[in-house]
Amino acid sequence: MNPVNQPLPSGPIPLGITAVRRSRQGVVAWGSHRVTVGGNAPVRVQSMTNTDTADAIATAIQVKELAQAGSELVRITVNNDEAAKAVPHIREQLDRMGVPVPLIGDFHFNGHRLLTDYPDMAQALSKYRINPGNVGRGEKKDRQFALMVEAAARWGKPIRIGVNWGSLEPDLLASMMDENAGRPVPWDARQVMYEALITSALTSAAQAQKLGLPPEDIVLSCKVSNVQDLIAVYQELSRRCDYPLHLGLTEAGMGTKGTVASAAALSVLLQQGIGDTIRVSLTPQPGESRTQEVVVAMEILQALGLRSFVPSVTACPGCGRTTSVTFQELAKQIDDYLRSSMPQWRERYPGVEGMKVAVMGCIVNGPGESKHADIGISLPGTGEAPAAPVYIDGEKKLTLRGEGIARDFQRVVEDYIEKRFGTAA
Ligand code: SF4
Repeated sequence: MNPVNQPLPSGPIPLGITAVRRSRQGVVAWGSHRVTVGGNAPVRVQSMTNTDTADAIATAIQVKELAQAGSELVRITVNNDEAAKAVPHIREQLDRMGVPVPLIGDFHFNGHRLLTDYPDMAQALSKYRINPGNVGRGEKKDRQFALMVEAAARWGKPIRIGVNWGSLEPDLLASMMDENAGRPVPWDARQVMYEALITSALTSAAQAQKLGLPPEDIVLSCKVSNVQDLIAVYQELSRRCDYPLHLGLTEAGMGTKGTVASAAALSVLLQQGIGDTIRVSLTPQPGESRTQEVVVAMEILQALGLRSFVPSVTACPGCGRTTSVTFQELAKQIDDYLRSSMPQWRERYPGVEGMKVAVMGCIVNGPGESKHADIGISLPGTGEAPAAPVYIDGEKKLTLRGEGIARDFQRVVEDYIEKRFGTAA
Protein backbone atom coordinates (compact mmCIF):
# COMPACT_ATOMS: atom_id res chain seq x y z
CA MET A 1 0.00 0.00 0.00
CA ASN A 2 1.36 3.38 -0.94
CA PRO A 3 0.84 5.55 2.18
CA VAL A 4 1.05 8.91 0.41
CA ASN A 5 -1.00 7.99 -2.62
CA GLN A 6 1.75 8.66 -5.12
CA PRO A 7 2.49 6.35 -8.04
CA LEU A 8 5.45 4.09 -7.30
CA PRO A 9 8.46 4.54 -9.58
CA SER A 10 8.76 2.10 -12.47
CA GLY A 11 12.50 1.61 -11.79
CA PRO A 12 15.21 2.35 -9.26
CA ILE A 13 15.74 5.84 -7.87
CA PRO A 14 18.44 7.51 -9.99
CA LEU A 15 21.93 7.48 -8.50
CA GLY A 16 23.26 10.68 -6.94
CA ILE A 17 26.02 11.84 -9.27
CA THR A 18 28.51 14.65 -9.31
CA ALA A 19 27.98 17.22 -12.01
CA VAL A 20 29.84 17.15 -15.31
CA ARG A 21 31.32 20.57 -15.95
CA ARG A 22 30.97 22.36 -19.22
CA SER A 23 34.06 22.52 -21.36
CA ARG A 24 36.02 25.63 -20.65
CA GLN A 25 39.72 26.15 -20.85
CA GLY A 26 42.11 28.57 -19.25
CA VAL A 27 45.73 28.17 -18.31
CA VAL A 28 47.77 29.56 -15.47
CA ALA A 29 51.44 29.17 -16.26
CA TRP A 30 54.60 30.04 -14.48
CA GLY A 31 57.93 28.86 -15.88
CA SER A 32 57.83 25.12 -16.18
CA HIS A 33 55.03 24.85 -13.65
CA ARG A 34 51.55 24.95 -15.12
CA VAL A 35 48.22 24.67 -13.39
CA THR A 36 45.33 24.24 -15.79
CA VAL A 37 42.01 25.81 -14.96
CA GLY A 38 38.77 24.89 -16.67
CA GLY A 39 38.02 22.28 -19.30
CA ASN A 40 38.73 18.83 -17.95
CA ALA A 41 40.95 20.10 -15.16
CA PRO A 42 39.80 19.48 -11.58
CA VAL A 43 38.10 22.37 -9.78
CA ARG A 44 41.06 24.27 -8.32
CA VAL A 45 41.45 25.57 -4.78
CA GLN A 46 42.63 29.16 -4.41
CA SER A 47 43.44 31.30 -1.40
CA MET A 48 44.75 34.76 -0.63
CA THR A 49 47.41 36.01 1.75
CA ASN A 50 46.75 38.67 4.39
CA THR A 51 50.36 39.68 4.97
CA ASP A 52 51.79 43.00 3.81
CA THR A 53 53.13 42.01 0.37
CA ALA A 54 56.01 44.46 0.84
CA ASP A 55 57.22 42.09 3.57
CA ALA A 56 58.58 39.48 1.15
CA ILE A 57 59.65 36.98 3.79
CA ALA A 58 56.38 36.99 5.74
CA THR A 59 54.39 36.75 2.50
CA ALA A 60 56.51 33.90 1.13
CA ILE A 61 56.07 32.01 4.41
CA GLN A 62 52.30 32.42 4.33
CA VAL A 63 52.12 31.45 0.66
CA LYS A 64 54.08 28.31 1.53
CA GLU A 65 51.68 27.49 4.39
CA LEU A 66 48.67 27.95 2.12
CA ALA A 67 50.25 25.83 -0.63
CA GLN A 68 51.16 23.08 1.81
CA ALA A 69 47.60 23.10 3.12
CA GLY A 70 46.43 22.40 -0.45
CA SER A 71 45.99 25.77 -2.16
CA GLU A 72 46.85 25.34 -5.84
CA LEU A 73 46.95 29.06 -6.65
CA VAL A 74 47.67 31.85 -4.19
CA ARG A 75 46.69 35.49 -4.68
CA ILE A 76 48.67 38.35 -3.17
CA THR A 77 47.71 41.99 -3.16
CA VAL A 78 49.97 44.28 -5.22
CA ASN A 79 48.83 47.65 -3.97
CA ASN A 80 51.87 49.95 -4.09
CA ASP A 81 55.48 50.34 -5.24
CA GLU A 82 56.91 48.50 -2.23
CA ALA A 83 54.61 45.52 -2.82
CA ALA A 84 55.45 45.51 -6.55
CA LYS A 85 59.18 45.52 -5.77
CA ALA A 86 58.74 42.62 -3.31
CA VAL A 87 56.94 40.29 -5.75
CA PRO A 88 60.05 38.96 -7.59
CA HIS A 89 61.70 38.30 -4.19
CA ILE A 90 58.63 36.41 -2.98
CA ARG A 91 58.77 34.27 -6.12
CA GLU A 92 62.51 33.63 -5.60
CA GLN A 93 61.97 32.67 -1.95
CA LEU A 94 59.23 30.24 -2.92
CA ASP A 95 61.40 28.68 -5.63
CA ARG A 96 64.22 28.30 -3.15
CA MET A 97 61.83 26.56 -0.73
CA GLY A 98 60.62 24.26 -3.51
CA VAL A 99 57.10 25.74 -3.59
CA PRO A 100 56.08 26.07 -7.24
CA VAL A 101 52.56 27.39 -6.52
CA PRO A 102 51.51 30.06 -9.06
CA LEU A 103 51.13 33.59 -7.64
CA ILE A 104 48.26 35.80 -8.74
CA GLY A 105 48.62 39.57 -8.44
CA ASP A 106 45.54 41.41 -7.15
CA PHE A 107 45.37 44.90 -8.65
CA HIS A 108 43.10 47.85 -7.88
CA PHE A 109 43.33 51.53 -8.87
CA ASN A 110 47.02 51.60 -9.86
CA GLY A 111 47.60 48.21 -11.52
CA HIS A 112 48.17 49.83 -14.94
CA ARG A 113 51.05 51.85 -13.54
CA LEU A 114 52.58 49.07 -11.43
CA LEU A 115 52.46 46.56 -14.29
CA THR A 116 54.16 49.12 -16.54
CA ASP A 117 56.77 50.37 -14.06
CA TYR A 118 57.76 46.97 -12.62
CA PRO A 119 58.34 44.49 -15.44
CA ASP A 120 60.07 42.02 -13.07
CA MET A 121 56.90 41.94 -10.98
CA ALA A 122 54.71 41.54 -14.07
CA GLN A 123 56.87 38.62 -15.14
CA ALA A 124 57.12 36.94 -11.73
CA LEU A 125 53.33 36.72 -11.36
CA SER A 126 51.42 33.88 -13.03
CA LYS A 127 48.13 35.69 -13.46
CA TYR A 128 46.67 39.17 -12.95
CA ARG A 129 43.36 39.85 -11.26
CA ILE A 130 41.75 42.95 -12.71
CA ASN A 131 38.67 44.50 -11.10
CA PRO A 132 36.91 46.55 -13.80
CA GLY A 133 35.26 48.64 -11.06
CA ASN A 134 38.64 49.78 -9.76
CA VAL A 135 40.52 50.56 -12.96
CA GLY A 136 39.51 54.20 -13.30
CA ARG A 137 36.57 56.24 -14.52
CA GLY A 138 35.55 57.78 -17.82
CA GLU A 139 38.19 57.93 -20.56
CA LYS A 140 40.91 56.88 -18.17
CA LYS A 141 39.21 53.54 -17.55
CA ASP A 142 39.60 52.23 -21.10
CA ARG A 143 43.20 53.40 -21.35
CA GLN A 144 44.19 51.97 -17.97
CA PHE A 145 42.37 48.70 -18.59
CA ALA A 146 44.18 48.45 -21.95
CA LEU A 147 47.57 48.95 -20.26
CA MET A 148 46.87 46.03 -17.91
CA VAL A 149 45.65 43.73 -20.68
CA GLU A 150 48.63 44.69 -22.84
CA ALA A 151 50.97 43.77 -19.98
CA ALA A 152 49.24 40.38 -19.71
CA ALA A 153 49.59 39.82 -23.47
CA ARG A 154 53.24 40.98 -23.45
CA TRP A 155 54.23 38.60 -20.66
CA GLY A 156 51.94 35.77 -21.75
CA LYS A 157 49.85 35.84 -18.55
CA PRO A 158 46.18 35.02 -18.13
CA ILE A 159 43.88 37.43 -16.33
CA ARG A 160 40.86 37.10 -14.11
CA ILE A 161 38.30 39.77 -14.65
CA GLY A 162 37.04 39.85 -11.09
CA VAL A 163 33.88 41.89 -10.66
CA ASN A 164 32.70 42.50 -7.12
CA TRP A 165 29.39 44.05 -6.10
CA GLY A 166 31.20 46.16 -3.51
CA SER A 167 33.13 47.90 -6.28
CA LEU A 168 30.85 47.61 -9.29
CA GLU A 169 31.62 50.06 -12.12
CA PRO A 170 29.71 53.15 -10.90
CA ASP A 171 29.02 54.58 -14.38
CA LEU A 172 27.69 51.27 -15.65
CA LEU A 173 25.45 50.76 -12.63
CA ALA A 174 24.12 54.34 -12.86
CA SER A 175 23.27 54.00 -16.55
CA MET A 176 21.56 50.63 -15.98
CA MET A 177 19.55 52.12 -13.10
CA ASP A 178 18.46 54.97 -15.41
CA GLU A 179 17.50 52.51 -18.11
CA ASN A 180 15.54 50.51 -15.58
CA ALA A 181 13.63 53.57 -14.40
CA GLY A 182 12.39 53.98 -17.98
CA ARG A 183 10.97 50.45 -18.21
CA PRO A 184 7.19 50.16 -18.15
CA VAL A 185 7.63 47.63 -15.32
CA PRO A 186 10.99 48.31 -13.68
CA TRP A 187 13.08 45.36 -12.54
CA ASP A 188 13.86 44.77 -8.91
CA ALA A 189 17.01 46.69 -7.89
CA ARG A 190 18.76 43.36 -7.20
CA GLN A 191 18.01 42.20 -10.74
CA VAL A 192 19.59 45.38 -12.10
CA MET A 193 22.62 44.67 -9.94
CA TYR A 194 22.83 41.09 -11.30
CA GLU A 195 22.71 42.40 -14.85
CA ALA A 196 25.33 45.06 -14.12
CA LEU A 197 27.74 42.50 -12.59
CA ILE A 198 27.43 40.19 -15.59
CA THR A 199 27.60 43.04 -18.12
CA SER A 200 30.74 44.40 -16.46
CA ALA A 201 32.45 40.98 -16.65
CA LEU A 202 31.40 40.17 -20.21
CA THR A 203 32.10 43.58 -21.75
CA SER A 204 35.52 43.67 -20.05
CA ALA A 205 36.29 40.18 -21.40
CA ALA A 206 35.24 41.22 -24.90
CA GLN A 207 37.41 44.32 -24.60
CA ALA A 208 40.39 42.19 -23.47
CA GLN A 209 39.94 39.89 -26.45
CA LYS A 210 39.74 42.88 -28.77
CA LEU A 211 43.04 44.08 -27.30
CA GLY A 212 44.63 40.77 -28.30
CA LEU A 213 44.26 38.48 -25.28
CA PRO A 214 43.20 34.97 -26.35
CA PRO A 215 39.90 33.79 -24.82
CA GLU A 216 41.64 30.83 -23.15
CA ASP A 217 43.63 33.32 -21.05
CA ILE A 218 40.54 34.85 -19.48
CA VAL A 219 38.80 33.73 -16.28
CA LEU A 220 35.72 35.54 -14.94
CA SER A 221 34.21 36.06 -11.53
CA CYS A 222 31.24 38.07 -10.24
CA LYS A 223 31.33 37.97 -6.47
CA VAL A 224 28.55 38.99 -4.11
CA SER A 225 28.10 38.30 -0.41
CA ASN A 226 24.57 36.85 -0.39
CA VAL A 227 24.07 33.14 -1.13
CA GLN A 228 20.95 33.44 -3.31
CA ASP A 229 22.39 36.40 -5.24
CA LEU A 230 25.58 34.47 -5.94
CA ILE A 231 23.67 31.46 -7.24
CA ALA A 232 21.44 33.61 -9.47
CA VAL A 233 24.36 35.59 -10.92
CA TYR A 234 26.59 32.60 -11.67
CA GLN A 235 23.79 30.55 -13.20
CA GLU A 236 23.19 33.37 -15.66
CA LEU A 237 26.89 34.12 -16.21
CA SER A 238 27.53 30.45 -16.95
CA ARG A 239 24.65 30.41 -19.43
CA ARG A 240 26.03 33.41 -21.30
CA CYS A 241 29.71 32.48 -21.68
CA ASP A 242 32.26 29.69 -21.88
CA TYR A 243 35.09 31.32 -19.94
CA PRO A 244 36.35 29.42 -16.88
CA LEU A 245 34.60 30.78 -13.80
CA HIS A 246 36.13 31.50 -10.40
CA LEU A 247 33.58 31.09 -7.61
CA GLY A 248 33.50 32.60 -4.19
CA LEU A 249 31.11 34.21 -1.78
CA THR A 250 32.85 37.50 -1.08
CA GLU A 251 33.13 38.66 2.53
CA ALA A 252 31.63 35.34 3.71
CA GLY A 253 32.38 36.22 7.32
CA MET A 254 33.86 34.41 10.28
CA GLY A 255 33.77 30.89 11.62
CA THR A 256 30.68 28.76 11.25
CA LYS A 257 28.67 31.46 9.47
CA GLY A 258 31.28 32.01 6.76
CA THR A 259 31.91 28.32 6.35
CA VAL A 260 28.26 27.36 6.06
CA ALA A 261 27.33 30.25 3.74
CA SER A 262 30.25 29.47 1.42
CA ALA A 263 29.47 25.75 1.41
CA ALA A 264 25.78 26.39 0.70
CA ALA A 265 26.42 28.75 -2.22
CA LEU A 266 29.33 26.92 -3.81
CA SER A 267 27.74 23.48 -3.48
CA VAL A 268 24.60 24.46 -5.37
CA LEU A 269 26.68 25.88 -8.25
CA LEU A 270 29.30 23.13 -8.34
CA GLN A 271 26.56 20.50 -8.39
CA GLN A 272 25.20 22.22 -11.49
CA GLY A 273 28.60 22.01 -13.16
CA ILE A 274 29.35 25.70 -12.62
CA GLY A 275 32.77 26.78 -11.38
CA ASP A 276 36.36 25.96 -12.28
CA THR A 277 38.21 27.44 -9.31
CA ILE A 278 36.96 28.32 -5.84
CA ARG A 279 37.97 30.44 -2.94
CA VAL A 280 36.38 30.52 0.52
CA SER A 281 36.73 34.10 1.79
CA LEU A 282 36.79 33.43 5.53
CA THR A 283 37.74 36.08 8.03
CA PRO A 284 40.14 34.24 10.35
CA GLN A 285 39.12 34.21 14.00
CA PRO A 286 41.79 35.69 16.29
CA GLY A 287 44.63 33.20 16.43
CA GLU A 288 43.16 31.01 13.69
CA SER A 289 45.42 29.97 10.83
CA ARG A 290 44.89 31.53 7.42
CA THR A 291 44.95 27.98 6.05
CA GLN A 292 41.44 27.34 7.39
CA GLU A 293 39.95 28.77 4.18
CA VAL A 294 41.91 26.19 2.19
CA VAL A 295 40.70 23.35 4.42
CA VAL A 296 37.08 24.46 3.99
CA ALA A 297 37.43 24.76 0.19
CA MET A 298 38.90 21.27 -0.02
CA GLU A 299 36.18 19.87 2.25
CA ILE A 300 33.48 21.34 -0.01
CA LEU A 301 34.98 19.71 -3.11
CA GLN A 302 35.54 16.42 -1.32
CA ALA A 303 32.05 16.32 0.20
CA LEU A 304 30.57 16.78 -3.29
CA GLY A 305 32.71 13.95 -4.63
CA LEU A 306 34.46 16.31 -7.06
CA ARG A 307 37.95 15.75 -5.64
CA SER A 308 39.73 13.75 -2.95
CA PHE A 309 42.39 15.45 -0.85
CA VAL A 310 42.63 13.49 2.40
CA PRO A 311 41.18 10.18 3.61
CA SER A 312 37.75 10.89 5.03
CA VAL A 313 36.70 9.99 8.55
CA THR A 314 33.06 9.13 9.13
CA ALA A 315 32.23 9.58 12.79
CA CYS A 316 28.84 9.39 14.47
CA PRO A 317 27.75 12.40 16.55
CA GLY A 318 27.46 10.35 19.73
CA CYS A 319 24.34 10.26 21.90
CA GLY A 320 23.08 8.95 25.24
CA ARG A 321 24.62 5.60 24.40
CA THR A 322 28.12 7.07 24.59
CA THR A 323 28.75 8.46 28.03
CA SER A 324 32.53 8.71 27.61
CA VAL A 325 34.46 10.91 25.19
CA THR A 326 36.69 8.03 24.07
CA PHE A 327 35.20 7.80 20.61
CA GLN A 328 35.32 11.60 20.10
CA GLU A 329 38.98 11.58 21.04
CA LEU A 330 39.67 8.65 18.75
CA ALA A 331 37.84 10.25 15.81
CA LYS A 332 39.81 13.47 16.28
CA GLN A 333 43.09 11.65 16.75
CA ILE A 334 42.61 9.62 13.56
CA ASP A 335 41.46 12.69 11.61
CA ASP A 336 44.49 14.73 12.78
CA TYR A 337 46.81 11.83 12.03
CA LEU A 338 45.47 11.37 8.48
CA ARG A 339 45.60 15.11 7.72
CA SER A 340 49.07 15.68 9.10
CA SER A 341 50.41 12.63 7.28
CA MET A 342 49.05 13.58 3.85
CA PRO A 343 51.98 15.80 2.74
CA GLN A 344 54.35 12.79 3.09
CA TRP A 345 51.79 10.23 1.90
CA ARG A 346 50.89 11.94 -1.37
CA GLU A 347 53.82 10.40 -3.22
CA ARG A 348 54.43 7.40 -1.03
CA TYR A 349 50.86 6.08 -1.05
CA PRO A 350 49.16 7.07 -4.30
CA GLY A 351 45.35 6.88 -3.99
CA VAL A 352 45.33 7.03 -0.17
CA GLU A 353 43.36 10.30 -0.32
CA GLY A 354 40.29 8.31 -1.41
CA MET A 355 40.35 6.02 1.65
CA LYS A 356 37.37 6.02 4.02
CA VAL A 357 37.70 5.45 7.75
CA ALA A 358 34.76 5.06 10.16
CA VAL A 359 34.92 5.73 13.89
CA MET A 360 31.59 4.89 15.51
CA GLY A 361 30.27 5.15 19.04
CA CYS A 362 28.21 2.00 19.60
CA ILE A 363 26.68 -1.15 18.21
CA VAL A 364 23.56 0.56 16.76
CA ASN A 365 25.16 1.89 13.56
CA GLY A 366 28.81 1.10 14.31
CA PRO A 367 29.23 -2.27 12.59
CA GLY A 368 27.09 -1.25 9.58
CA GLU A 369 28.89 2.04 8.96
CA SER A 370 32.27 0.39 9.57
CA LYS A 371 31.51 -2.22 6.92
CA HIS A 372 30.80 0.57 4.37
CA ALA A 373 34.23 2.13 5.06
CA ASP A 374 37.61 0.76 3.98
CA ILE A 375 38.50 0.44 7.63
CA GLY A 376 36.22 1.07 10.60
CA ILE A 377 35.98 0.66 14.33
CA SER A 378 32.86 0.34 16.46
CA LEU A 379 33.60 1.43 20.01
CA PRO A 380 31.65 0.04 22.96
CA GLY A 381 28.69 2.18 24.01
CA THR A 382 27.42 2.41 27.59
CA GLY A 383 26.59 -1.05 28.91
CA GLU A 384 28.24 -2.86 25.99
CA ALA A 385 31.12 -5.33 26.44
CA PRO A 386 34.43 -3.37 26.54
CA ALA A 387 35.53 -4.48 23.09
CA ALA A 388 35.89 -2.64 19.76
CA PRO A 389 35.49 -4.73 16.62
CA VAL A 390 37.54 -3.52 13.64
CA TYR A 391 36.25 -4.01 10.10
CA ILE A 392 38.58 -4.04 7.12
CA ASP A 393 37.22 -4.02 3.56
CA GLY A 394 33.75 -4.87 4.84
CA GLU A 395 34.71 -7.78 7.10
CA LYS A 396 35.29 -8.01 10.84
CA LYS A 397 39.01 -8.76 11.14
CA LEU A 398 39.91 -8.23 14.81
CA THR A 399 38.71 -6.86 18.14
CA LEU A 400 40.63 -4.30 20.19
CA ARG A 401 40.41 -4.10 23.99
CA GLY A 402 41.90 -2.17 26.87
CA GLU A 403 43.25 1.31 27.45
CA GLY A 404 45.31 1.50 24.26
CA ILE A 405 42.49 1.13 21.72
CA ALA A 406 43.30 4.48 20.04
CA ARG A 407 46.98 3.70 19.65
CA ASP A 408 46.27 0.14 18.48
CA PHE A 409 43.71 1.29 15.93
CA GLN A 410 46.16 3.83 14.52
CA ARG A 411 48.66 0.99 14.00
CA VAL A 412 46.00 -1.05 12.23
CA VAL A 413 45.30 1.93 9.94
CA GLU A 414 49.04 2.41 9.23
CA ASP A 415 49.40 -1.26 8.40
CA TYR A 416 46.36 -1.16 6.10
CA ILE A 417 47.70 1.89 4.25
CA GLU A 418 51.13 0.35 3.76
CA LYS A 419 49.66 -2.89 2.42
CA ARG A 420 47.04 -1.31 0.19
CA PHE A 421 48.69 1.89 -1.05
CA GLY A 422 52.43 1.25 -0.59
CA THR A 423 54.24 1.54 -3.93
CA ALA A 424 55.56 -2.00 -3.46
CA ALA A 425 51.98 -3.27 -3.12
S1 SF4 B 1 26.20 4.92 16.48
FE1 SF4 B 1 25.51 4.62 18.58
S2 SF4 B 1 26.57 6.20 19.75
FE2 SF4 B 1 26.70 6.79 17.62
S3 SF4 B 1 24.94 8.18 17.38
FE3 SF4 B 1 24.31 6.13 16.72
S4 SF4 B 1 23.35 5.23 18.53
FE4 SF4 B 1 24.54 7.00 19.24
